[in-house]
Amino acid sequence: WDMTYDVVVIGGGFAGLSAAYNASTQGASTLLIDKMPVLGGNSQINGGVYASYTSKIADELYTKLGLQPDTAEKHIEDTIKGGDYMGDVKLVKNFVYGSPVMLNMLLDNGLQVRESITRPGGHYGYRTYTTINGIGADIVAVQKKMLEKTSTEVMLNTKMTQIYRETTGEQRVIGIKIETKDGVKNVKAEKGVILTTGGFSGNVEMRSKHVPALTADLPTTNHVGATGEGIIMAQEVGANTTQMSYIQLYPFANPNNGVLDAYAVIPFSGPSSGIVYVDVNGKRYVNEGERRDVCSRAAQESGGFPTFSIFGQDIVDKAGFITESQLQSGMEAERIFKADTLEELAEIINAHQYKEKSINMSGETLKATIDTHNGYIDAGKDPDFGKVIDKGVMLKTDKGPYYAIPQWPSVHHTMGGLTITERTEVQDIWGKVIPGLYAAGEVTGGVHGTNRLGSNAIPDAMVHGYIAGEVSVTGNVPDF
Ligand code: ADP
Repeated sequence: WDMTYDVVVIGGGFAGLSAAYNASTQGASTLLIDKMPVLGGNSQINGGVYASYTSKIADELYTKLGLQPDTAEKHIEDTIKGGDYMGDVKLVKNFVYGSPVMLNMLLDNGLQVRESITRPGGHYGYRTYTTINGIGADIVAVQKKMLEKTSTEVMLNTKMTQIYRETTGEQRVIGIKIETKDGVKNVKAEKGVILTTGGFSGNVEMRSKHVPALTADLPTTNHVGATGEGIIMAQEVGANTTQMSYIQLYPFANPNNGVLDAYAVIPFSGPSSGIVYVDVNGKRYVNEGERRDVCSRAAQESGGFPTFSIFGQDIVDKAGFITESQLQSGMEAERIFKADTLEELAEIINAHQYKEKSINMSGETLKATIDTHNGYIDAGKDPDFGKVIDKGVMLKTDKGPYYAIPQWPSVHHTMGGLTITERTEVQDIWGKVIPGLYAAGEVTGGVHGTNRLGSNAIPDAMVHGYIAGEVSVTGNVPDF
């Protein structure tokens, strides 16, 4: 062996940062590696939305925004239902109960969030927080700061290429092989190897093997490191995988490049506040309160490209999840269009091209769509698509200026991955725990079922990373 640690964590996203932090806090000598030149992985470019049924700032925000408080039971129920009852209830309970603990820890360490709690697609309780810049990097920055206070060693540009497992005795995982700029090295892990290598949306061959429709033609929101080899290496030492064909498209990415930028988070956070999605003809095509898989499919079947989120100044002023500076930079980047009337907004939409294609939306139709939707908000009922309308919370789009954001589905999250126990121990194909091997975050499968609800990814990754950090060192599950 070239190096020896108690715990070796592979991958420095939400899950890995959380795992390394807790392993170190529990007294383990800890190494965190990442193949990329920076920490943060996909987490860094995620939308920065975090679901938590409560938090230390919840009471104040619920009162200020006039919202009904949430419960853990409702969060669990929505999550299970939102994944068509295919998620593992034990894992869902883990992250739901752990989510406020992690959020409070982040807030205590300086995380800033916007003054809003939203109810995005598939959630029926107000529980989604948005970081100040609407991007996961806000959380990664706090996690990195927390990690720096521990004795964890970090190696970047360092890639795991093999997992070592004994073939006799206890058949423990005892270390990994890494490639560094100084050559190949073998790292011993006395207590545990924790895989937090993320998903495989960025690996066209792997994703299209499981879902043939997800060819290279589809863009991805993911960073180039989301290639899934952590899953393959674990399989090589006997690990099982589950639900590999459940792959989610993010419905509101930038239509020109598939990127999930901070502007692409606005359509996601907007449904409970009254954001309306329209197709190229200016007509609604889906219940905006629906899950990501439903919204993505509806967009693909809307008969044109792309679709748009429409909202008015009232939503900007009162809902709290859009900041003025974000609007300004969005307009400068031509990701957000602004006009004084809905007719003019349609003209601006038509003046732009989307992947070099033009559209011809009728301003009259757009206005009629928004007027009708305003009437539904007054009535508290959406006869067209059955959206749940909370009176007093959902706002009408009847005052200018008006805004539009173009949007289109992009390959986003792989729900499938390694099979784990509720203690984050990786299981083999016989259901037996592989001693010394743990996994957390997007590399795991079976947490969310067919479809992950937006804003559940960060608590899932952070809570399960935290559990892995503790179980690998002490054998105990943290008490949430
Ligand atoms: P999660 O949200 O589950 O924490 P992320 O995608 O944010 O997942 O982070 C996973 C990290 O793992 C990325 O930073 C990626 O570069 C890293 N990674 C993936 N495969 C390897 C590997 N073979 N060796 C080292 N790091 C890896």
